Amino acid sequence: MDSWDKFRREGPEKSKEESMSELKKEIENCRKCDLFKTRRNPLVGDGSIYSRVMLVGESPGYYEDIQNKAFVGEAGKILDVLLVDLKREDIYITNVLKCHPPRNHNPNRQEIDSCIGYLYRQMGIIKPKIIVSLGKYATDEIFKKFGLPFSRISELHGKMFHANAEFGKIIIFPSFHPAVACYRSEMIDILKRDFKRLRGLINGEY
Ligand code: SF4
Repeated sequence: MDSWDKFRREGPEKSKEESMSELKKEIENCRKCDLFKTRRNPLVGDGSIYSRVMLVGESPGYYEDIQNKAFVGEAGKILDVLLVDLKREDIYITNVLKCHPPRNHNPNRQEIDSCIGYLYRQMGIIKPKIIVSLGKYATDEIFKKFGLPFSRISELHGKMFHANAEFGKIIIFPSFHPAVACYRSEMIDILKRDFKRLRGLINGEY
């Protein structure tokens, strides 16, 4: 189908804002897994939908659920340290799960399978050049999506992986979830090293 046929059949392409606003409404009304019963606020994502860089975490925590903002609380403070001069409003931050799991339980298969389509649609709207997967759940799902072999986050972190998305070539950059430094203080140095490489990548140094 050429672009004129496409236009005649589907009408003009939606803007990023329109597509994201439709997706937001869907997520806010979503009941596809049991997390809708206990969530206060589904968290779609924060930051610029025009960013080249998308950070993907695991799920909203207790404070994210209350404040409806990504990475607040202790993990958020660590993320801010890691970002250094990168401004949050210049990147886009979201999670694999959009609703807070009670007692921060690890995402289960049913929850991930119910929710992951929203993340893929966000990628299609934002069309990032760099996707930063934070922690094993986000990395596992994103590697699967792009046909990359997942091993262990401890082996993959801090490295660049090239992949082809429907919207062009992308780089996937896995790291640990910043929350890990809340209970394993030695991880902060590893995270800082990874994010230094990430900032270099964003600034075109590689
Ligand atoms: S976690 Fe995802 S699939 Fe489950 S209710 Fe929330 S938005 Fe829907």
